[in-house]
Amino acid sequence: MISLGVEATAHTFGLGIVSKKEIFVNVKDSYTTEKGGIIPMDAARHHENISDALIKKALSDFEKVGKNKIDLVTYSRGPGIGPCLHVAKNTAKEVAESLGVPFIGVNHCVAHLSVGSLVTNVKDPVLLYASGANTQIIAYEGGKYRVFGETLDQGIGNFLDSFARHIGLGFPGGPKIEALASNSKRYIEIPYSVKGMDISLAGMLTNLKNKFDSGNYKVEDLAYSLQETAFSMLMEVSERAMAHCGKKELLLGGGVACNSRLKEMAEVMCKDRNAKCFIPPNSLLVDNGAMIAYQGILEYESGRREKKVEIKPYERTDDVKVTWK
Ligand code: AMP
Ligand code: MG
Repeated sequence: MISLGVEATAHTFGLGIVSKKEIFVNVKDSYTTEKGGIIPMDAARHHENISDALIKKALSDFEKVGKNKIDLVTYSRGPGIGPCLHVAKNTAKEVAESLGVPFIGVNHCVAHLSVGSLVTNVKDPVLLYASGANTQIIAYEGGKYRVFGETLDQGIGNFLDSFARHIGLGFPGGPKIEALASNSKRYIEIPYSVKGMDISLAGMLTNLKNKFDSGNYKVEDLAYSLQETAFSMLMEVSERAMAHCGKKELLLGGGVACNSRLKEMAEVMCKDRNAKCFIPPNSLLVDNGAMIAYQGILEYESGRREKKVEIKPYERTDDVKVTWK
């Protein structure tokens, strides 16, 4: 079975074509800004404007690898920005109708987790899902994907992007913060906030903004301290979830997991506790169509059929009925 996936929960419009074993196509085009954050309607317009051209490209790339038969179309139904999700759904519907194949919607966060098994031999991991709007520690326990810890306020990526915006950098800010941080080794004390299994970032953000505004700190030192502190918090809750569930595998997902320092910390933490760390390539960590396509195959093969074509902007990971395990 071959599935074409449409991802459009936020800034990225992505298309992937995959089988259960192989990725044939994974293309995307992302909405970015010079200054300021995501404006929902602008992001949706970006996706709408690019969709026809990107579909053409995906299908022609698919032909170039000697393939032409698509059996299923899958779209990201949520969680995400409403207007963007509509583009995902409408694109999927259009493509599915023109190909004469069925289409279904899947949960974006669960797709981030599942795609790990397409490219690594991960079996039963704790997923550290660190992306723009979402930051969750997820594991499969008792027939469901359960959220063991999460951010109490904003996603780690949004936090990075907000600080970047405050210091005059555009979206996405994460890679720019990473570049700044690589020029410093000077740690400045900032609030470390882990509450039980959850993390909180709002206080750290205010503290960083105040420090920056005071003019008394080098921005490289702030970026370095931010990464060391925020990523340590993620490691603490991930490790605790692994200990609690007795799981020996950590899987990374989400755009912030592209960060080299975060990857390094995850490797070290896993090594220390004799666990394995699985890190998919960056193209599958960020929002992408391949993971949506793959999730579609898992669900379709387990009997899922679309009864009602809908988007679910607020669907939580633990709301998803797992039929494919
Ligand atoms: P996603 O929503 O999963 O596609 O991830 C997007 C988020 O990842 C944005 O907030 C980016 O700033 C962040 N991001 C991308 N690359 C990096 C990086 N190298 N370091 C930190 N954050 C990053
Ligand atoms: Mg994501």
